[in-house]
Amino acid sequence: MLITCPYCGPRDVIEFTYQGDGNRARPEPASQNFEAWNAYVYDRLNPAGDHNEIWQHSGGCRAHLRVVRNTLTHEISSVTFVRGHHGSASRPEAEDRS
Ligand SMILES: [Zn+2]
Repeated sequence: MLITCPYCGPRDVIEFTYQGDGNRARPEPASQNFEAWNAYVYDRLNPAGDHNEIWQHSGGCRAHLRVVRNTLTHEISSVTFVRGHHGSASRPEAEDRS
């Protein structure tokens, strides 16, 4: 399976580490809503089809990526940065050292 990192390009899945379900909503840290914390920690979706996942390019740029992967075919329809810390999804141009 290839994952196309927006920064590095297509790479084998062995360079990536699965970080979990991308659909979970973390409660506020001070929240006393134990049902929400229980759901955040233990509840997982198990869809037969498109699934929103978080992967880290641990063998490359180390960016955290939001990947939409079909769990039946492993086809990946979308890869974006979890946060916009790289600015854009395109590879940066070489630095201008003039
Ligand atoms: Zn990368």
